[in-house]
Amino acid sequence: MGAILKLDARTILVMTAMMGPLMAVVLYSMRRNYPVSVRGLGWWAGGALVQFVGIVLIATRDVLPTVFSILLGNVLMMAGSLMWVAGTEKFLGRPSSMRIWLPLLALVSLAVAALLLVWPDYVLRVLVINGSMIAIALLHSHRLVLHSRFEFACRFLVLALMASACAWLVHATGAVIGYTGGSVFAPTSFNVACNAALTVTTLLTLIGFVLLASERVRDEFERLATRDSLTGALMRRAWNAAAQLEMDRHRRHGRDLSLVAMDLDYFKRINDTFGHQAGDKALMDFVDRASTHLRSQDQMGRLGGEEFVLLLPETSAQDAWVVAERIRHSSELAENETRYTVSMGIATLQTQDHSLQALLGRADEALYRAKANGRNRIEFA
Ligand code: GH3
Ligand code: MG
Ligand code: MG
Repeated sequence: MGAILKLDARTILVMTAMMGPLMAVVLYSMRRNYPVSVRGLGWWAGGALVQFVGIVLIATRDVLPTVFSILLGNVLMMAGSLMWVAGTEKFLGRPSSMRIWLPLLALVSLAVAALLLVWPDYVLRVLVINGSMIAIALLHSHRLVLHSRFEFACRFLVLALMASACAWLVHATGAVIGYTGGSVFAPTSFNVACNAALTVTTLLTLIGFVLLASERVRDEFERLATRDSLTGALMRRAWNAAAQLEMDRHRRHGRDLSLVAMDLDYFKRINDTFGHQAGDKALMDFVDRASTHLRSQDQMGRLGGEEFVLLLPETSAQDAWVVAERIRHSSELAENETRYTVSMGIATLQTQDHSLQALLGRADEALYRAKANGRNRIEFA
């Protein structure tokens, strides 16, 4: 009976751990099919495979020598988790911190070897291994919280990592108290529960990677569909949609909303004198400069060739003028070849503006006045 139970615990562990290589296949195929800008997938997949090999080795306890089952098995578990951190750092475009962690992993491996071969001590060994796994999960979460936008996939992943850290902590506590029966495969309900919890959190972590990569691809497609490829400003349709939404919201709550219509002056001349490429450079320069003066809720649209429009929520006419003047002034500072100036018209939402087109029309009318009055200036509707 005891032998069957023992066999069962291993079989269940290895079978559930098979989710790892299956998810690795998913991640590898994503790596092949997703845009190259989604990085780190290979490391995540590789980490899952290395962890799986580690778990299989751990399951060979009493079959293979303990140097393989306990030492190598656990070292591979830790190495696989570190590969996940490396993958996340790649995904987030951060420098790799493995130069710090690999030597530490070697030190921990030495400690585990000593506690297995020189001064055999089960509890201390569990404390070292579980402590390292908890540290790696915390390190991983730290990277995600600090360097990503922390949207749904990221929160999901951090939650999975925290859950796994908790499971390792509970297991270590159990080992100290004596719930583990001195081995992972001792047939205690505590061991079964810990193994199950760790397999589930591993699976959730891998699902988190898949979600993270999908979110990145969705963001890229959204950017391609809504942003102008030359300047990165919103294209007309996307800007219109954003502006309509803000306009409805601001009308409902009686808040200020301003538009600034902008048109580069004598732009044809830049093209004619310096060539189309110089013109393109001026357009990019203008959007770059303008963007540095905008808040996150402001939206810049490119309505046509060298015509742009700003959507400024919660902004009075006076405040809109301050922003417009900053942009107008910084445009004058452009380098020699891409020298240009810009004219602007400001319109602020009024009760008589029944449509976005009406509001935009008033901003345009002010812009034409700015052109007529000599260019490189700002007029109010
Ligand atoms: P104004 O001061 O009255 O605005 O004069 P303008 O020359 O700027 O106005 P106009 O509308 O006559 O000319 C706009 C020029 O912008 C014409 C077009 O060739 C150029 N243009 C439009 N889109 C692009 C673009 O993507 N790149 C470049 N280089 N030029 C563009
Ligand atoms: Mg122009
Ligand atoms: Mg124009």
